[in-house]
Amino acid sequence: MESDGGKTIFEKIIDREIPAEILMEDEQCIVIRDINPGAPVHALIIPKQKIARLSEARANDISILGHLLLTAQQFAKRQELRDGFRVVINNGPHAGETVPHLHAHLLAGKPMIWPPC
Ligand code: 5GP
Repeated sequence: MESDGGKTIFEKIIDREIPAEILMEDEQCIVIRDINPGAPVHALIIPKQKIARLSEARANDISILGHLLLTAQQFAKRQELRDGFRVVINNGPHAGETVPHLHAHLLAGKPMIWPPC
C-alpha cells in the first residue's frame, strides 16, 4: 500500500507530513500510538530506514533489527508493563500486513489469547 509520492504513511509520519502521537523517538526508530488500537497499549515501532518487510531485510540490517527489539524492550520498561507485552511483526498478506514499511506492534494492557489466528 504505497501512498502518493511513493512514501508510505509511516514515512510521512517520520517526515512530520502527517500527525501521529509520538511515544518515543531516536535517530533510528520512531514509536507511535496505533490509530486503531487492538489493546489498551498498542504502539508501533518503526525503523526510520525503510525496509518494506522482514522478509526483505538483509544481513547488513542486523543493527536496525536489533535496535527495533531493544526499543520495544525500552518502551515496555518505560510504560512499566509488568504483566507482560506482545511484539508482533506482520509479514505479507496472509499475516495481515497493510503498511509496506517494516514495523513491530507492541500490545499490552490486557490478557491476550494464543495463538492469535
Ligand atoms: P500492519 O497491518 O501493516 O501490520 O500494521 C499497520 C498498522 O498501522 C495498523 O495497526 C494500523 O492501525 C496502523 N496505522 C495505519 N495508518 C496509520 C496512521 O495514519 N497513523 C497511525 N498512528 N497508525 C496507523
